[in-house]
Amino acid sequence: MQVQFLGSGDAFGSGGRFNSCFLVTGNESRFLIECGATSLVAMRRFGVDPNTLQTILISHLHGDHFGGLPVFLLDAQFVSRRETPLVIAGPPGLGRRLGEAQECLFPGSSKNSWRFDWRVEELEPGRRWTHGDIAVTPYEVVHACGATPFALRVEVDGKVVTYSGDTEWTDALITAARGADLFIAEAYFFEKKVPFHLDYATLLSHVDEIRPKRLILTHMSRDMLDRVDGVACECADDGMVITLD
Ligand SMILES: [Zn+2]
Ligand SMILES: [Zn+2]
Repeated sequence: MQVQFLGSGDAFGSGGRFNSCFLVTGNESRFLIECGATSLVAMRRFGVDPNTLQTILISHLHGDHFGGLPVFLLDAQFVSRRETPLVIAGPPGLGRRLGEAQECLFPGSSKNSWRFDWRVEELEPGRRWTHGDIAVTPYEVVHACGATPFALRVEVDGKVVTYSGDTEWTDALITAARGADLFIAEAYFFEKKVPFHLDYATLLSHVDEIRPKRLILTHMSRDMLDRVDGVACECADDGMVITLD
């Protein structure tokens, strides 16, 4: 199984990085975790054909995490000319917020006569959801975004990939990421504590409780990027590919 970081940046393009977007390629499944505002650009940059994706998972309803969906859908309709179904799964309220985003950014675009089937699945906190050979368990975290924010524990091909989403520290991350083969975790600041975001020092103080097999940091601000030389774990970079065997 492969994970490619198509976007490892924060909301503000720190370090010239794209918004959050991770491509997971398993034996049968190929899907995105997050589709931030810049994600279609990132897919073009890294040669990812959007038509090869069956599913898009969304952690929470901020533009740098789900804001790429309106243009992804328009591209599928008019440019990539998608013919296969697409499922977009995320927090309660995703369907309404996506419709609003479509109408705000491209008026009329939510009412297309679609050339392919797509649907939104709104996930319940703590309830394991399965789709094809993917299973996703969302855990509620602490982040203000007008809807319930999630960390996502994703199972595919016998591996577990957990993504923290954006959140200040919460013990929910221990449950979500315990023993994961890969834990992709926000490290917004190096050690500064702010509401709704996680800093590297706090994350590190809990790693023994989580015990992921591999930890990769993402969603780094300028403050964090300036200090990565002093960081004791892996940091994501746009385009980076890792293999989980
Ligand atoms: Zn974010
Ligand atoms: Zn956010």
